[in-house]
Amino acid sequence: MTATYQVHHYINGQVVPSTSGRQAPIFNPAKGAVQGQVDLGSVAELDQAVAAAAAAFPAWAAQPALARARVMQRFLVLAQQRSKDIAALIVKEHGKTFPDALGEVARAIEVIEFATGIPQLLKGEYTDQVARGIDAWSMRQPLGVVAGITPFNFPAMVPMWMFPIALACGNTFVLKPSERDPSPALLIAELLKEAGLPDGAFNVVQGDKSVVDAILAHPAIQAVSFVGSTPVAEYIYGEGCRHGKRVQALGGAKNHMVVMPDADLNQAVDALMGAAYGSAGERCMAISVAVAVGDVGDKLVAQLAERVKSLKVGEGNADGAEMGPVITREAQQRIERLIGAGIEEGAVSIVDGRGCKIPGYEDGFFVGGTLLDKVTPEMTVYREEIFGPVLCVLRVPDIAAAVKLINDHEYGNGVAVYTRDGGIAREFVRHIQVGMVGVNVPLPVPMAFNSFGGWKRSLFGDHHAYGPEGVRFYTRHKAVMQRWPDSIARGPEFSFPQLT
Ligand code: NAD
Repeated sequence: MTATYQVHHYINGQVVPSTSGRQAPIFNPAKGAVQGQVDLGSVAELDQAVAAAAAAFPAWAAQPALARARVMQRFLVLAQQRSKDIAALIVKEHGKTFPDALGEVARAIEVIEFATGIPQLLKGEYTDQVARGIDAWSMRQPLGVVAGITPFNFPAMVPMWMFPIALACGNTFVLKPSERDPSPALLIAELLKEAGLPDGAFNVVQGDKSVVDAILAHPAIQAVSFVGSTPVAEYIYGEGCRHGKRVQALGGAKNHMVVMPDADLNQAVDALMGAAYGSAGERCMAISVAVAVGDVGDKLVAQLAERVKSLKVGEGNADGAEMGPVITREAQQRIERLIGAGIEEGAVSIVDGRGCKIPGYEDGFFVGGTLLDKVTPEMTVYREEIFGPVLCVLRVPDIAAAVKLINDHEYGNGVAVYTRDGGIAREFVRHIQVGMVGVNVPLPVPMAFNSFGGWKRSLFGDHHAYGPEGVRFYTRHKAVMQRWPDSIARGPEFSFPQLT
């Protein structure tokens, strides 16, 4: 099938075709066919984008925070007005269902809303008369040019975890979106321009590892935000830090949901269905492990089995589709291989989603909902991130064993506990080694005004994403002390002054 569209860079307020001569195919995951081509940028094109961002920085940073907030307010309105168009592009290239894509855009818009409050968020602290005639205060200032490198699974939301806050703080931005679904970033760039963002303040360079490496090495880029898989996150963190940059690198996950014997089972099953199979399991907060405590396992698996068998899998715009395809043929094959490995290693296959065919979309990258029971911690299917519609059930005798199991896992992104017992919930929250915890909430994704991030090998760096942590990441703290000549005059002082 011939490509029908081309996706280029966006540099200094213009769409710029690449001259690198390198492109990558963009697939329609539901059809399994190429539908477009995306430019893979060169080091020179990255340099061009950074130069535009560096040139735009002084004037943008010098604007009052309220002026930058007003650009964000206009961008907010435009993003709301165009949310269906952004969602349609997500469905087209990512494959998730339209309602799910709209949900992604809604969560992204919340970060813009947060960023419109930047004058309040940037306020420093002031101490009058810290010593005689001296006042002290703190302020937060932007870093300069900052970059974002984002994954395929949220092509609008994850970039918007980053740039609304970075820009509102006074930085300028270079985004390297996933090459799998690059189009939403370009529509967003147009909306930012329409909102009044100066040219050069937001740039998009399409590409793969070579653009990423150029970002990591570029001396003018002050900070890098990354979201993606753990091996790449670890690499980005190491290389970015080696080049003296501030780096936050969010990685992969294996999220558990503990079901206690006293939990409301219907509620727990509903929660597991949405959290494990929504977006075909391609969410970093997806629940991929159900931990059945005590005797709840058989009842839980029986109820889940019926529901998983009747999951409605289909093309993202199909009426009633609950789950779309996965992103690529390689992802489909990887997920099917891991299901096979799980069964070979002794897991009990309750529902096997391999070989899923959707009428009219026979070549699509579909994997049906899969439920594996009696999984053990040694199995590959438990240790590795599957990133597909596969739920593993593990059985443990008590809450202490559940906590130990989860704490021993290398990932620590999200976790949930379903129980009616406040004491159990409290202890769980206090002792679990995971960054985001839900009590009877399956996907405890913090809202825009809190911050998002995992622990252990789910995040490399010191700052979580967006919310107040985002403001800290994208600014430097400055402490100031001031004395005026007409305040108390002292002679030279050779030791620390003391209050007398
Ligand atoms: P990925 O790591 O393959 O790609 C992420 C980005 O890195 C892309 O822009 C890609 O072009 C680039 N990249 C890929 N390989 C690279 C390499 N070798 N060197 C340099 N750059 C490289 O991830 P993905 O498949 O796009 O996304 C899925 C992964 O992202 C999952 O592991 C998921 O858990 C994770 N994720 C994590 C979060 C979180 O908040 N922790 C959120 C969303 C997704």
